[in-house]
Amino acid sequence: MKNASAAVKRPAKYAIPKQELLDRWDEMRSERDITYKPKSISTWERSIGDADVRVIYCAGRRKRQESNNTDGNKDEKKGEENEPRPCSLCFAPILRTMPGNLNIMPNQFPYEYGAILGISKTCKKQDDINTGDLREILEIAYENPYLAFFYNGLGAAGASQEHFHIQGVLRNGRIPPIEQAPLVPFLNNIEAANVYKTPDYPIYTLVVDGEVFAASRKAVGIIDLLKEMDISFNMAFTPDKKICIIPRSKAVSSTLKMVSGDKDYAQKIGGMEVMGWFCTEYRTVFDKISKADTALEILTNALNDVGLDQQQQYALEEKLFRMFAARAA
Ligand SMILES: [Zn+2]
Repeated sequence: MKNASAAVKRPAKYAIPKQELLDRWDEMRSERDITYKPKSISTWERSIGDADVRVIYCAGRRKRQESNNTDGNKDEKKGEENEPRPCSLCFAPILRTMPGNLNIMPNQFPYEYGAILGISKTCKKQDDINTGDLREILEIAYENPYLAFFYNGLGAAGASQEHFHIQGVLRNGRIPPIEQAPLVPFLNNIEAANVYKTPDYPIYTLVVDGEVFAASRKAVGIIDLLKEMDISFNMAFTPDKKICIIPRSKAVSSTLKMVSGDKDYAQKIGGMEVMGWFCTEYRTVFDKISKADTALEILTNALNDVGLDQQQQYALEEKLFRMFAARAA
């Protein structure tokens, strides 16, 4: 007889109880002599519209150029002039070792309290993503539903570390807008995984779900095609094991086009922003956007600007059809 309680429940391998993660996070930040920025985290946020669009202001968040190098304000690529810069994530303090390919560490430059990174145990490039990585990330997202996980690709998609990593931030009970976008079938029932489109979401997004191995394999197929086409991308991973892939046009930043003679602001659009959570370190931007009557429109336009345009979408979809049709044959 089948019923819910009789279902074989696999022991949680990837779960980190929330309080344990936060305690360890605090402990690690206070015990390290390396520079974590900001030292104390003050964030303000406002929700806009029905779909949990958020504008988040993180006071004092700065990039890594302000860390322990003495020539503080130079470009972050600079460090030792003549030697290759060592990979900081290879020597990062680990919060939790996962059973597979990843370790969990605190984000050293957090947007928000409790922000973490999942980093590969071996040093490999940010876009070197295999089926095993995605399967593990899906399990981590599933077993830790209090976190929202996302990925920044290299280049236009905003990654600043080359060592493979994903990011996780506390949901605090919220559901990112990208997870609320209605799905429309696109390439379904091939290899026990489905691909959907999200025509109502302001940035072109492909969503993959299904049996975890098949879905991961299919997502890797899409990722490899994007790499071949030289298109950067973000990803978001949902607690119900969906992979959202968001290909990017060449722009890293978008302009928040304000109204009535007000000045426009450049806003970096990374994985968190494409999920619908906009993070800024400028109080002015936070105040202006979060109070504007047209906030939703401004943010929607900003996302629209950094996604694929119609022509790029067609080009990608044509190749996807061909690729999956060939596999199905
Ligand atoms: Zn590394």
